[in-house]
This record gives sequence, structure tokens and C-alpha cells, in this order.
Amino acid sequence: MNRPEFMESTMTNWKRPLEVLQKAMIMKKNMLAKGIVAARAKCPYCEGFWHGRLCGHKKHLHMSCDGDCKSMMME
Ligand SMILES: [Zn+2]
Repeated sequence: MNRPEFMESTMTNWKRPLEVLQKAMIMKKNMLAKGIVAARAKCPYCEGFWHGRLCGHKKHLHMSCDGDCKSMMME
């Protein structure tokens, strides 16, 4: 039932995946430099914050925005 809305938000977010990826990679770099596994950064697209987390031995970055833009990235 929620599928059309889900599709729509996916389409909206699809316009900027590269930019999100680049910003997320900068976030990861900073986290690695500081030796931390969780960080928060102001979202450039909405009023929310990005929550980044490094997971596993390979330190994959999982990032999601808690605001309206619903940006997310999993490396
Ligand atoms: Zn956001």
C-alpha cells in the first residue's frame, strides 16, 4: 500500500547519490582519523543530522539521516 510513496522518495534521493557518497566518505575519513566509530553531522539537505557508524573489521560505513530527506548510504 505504501509502495508508490516509497518509489517516489527513492526517485527523489536518486538525484544525489554521488554527492551523498562523497560527503559520507569525507565523514568516514574524519572518523578514521579521530579513531571513532560513530559520528553525527548536520545534513546538507534538510534540518536533520547524519548518523554515521563504522561496522565490522573492515569498517564499512553505514550512514543515515534522521531528518526529512531520508538520505542514506551503506558502503
Ligand atoms: Zn537530511
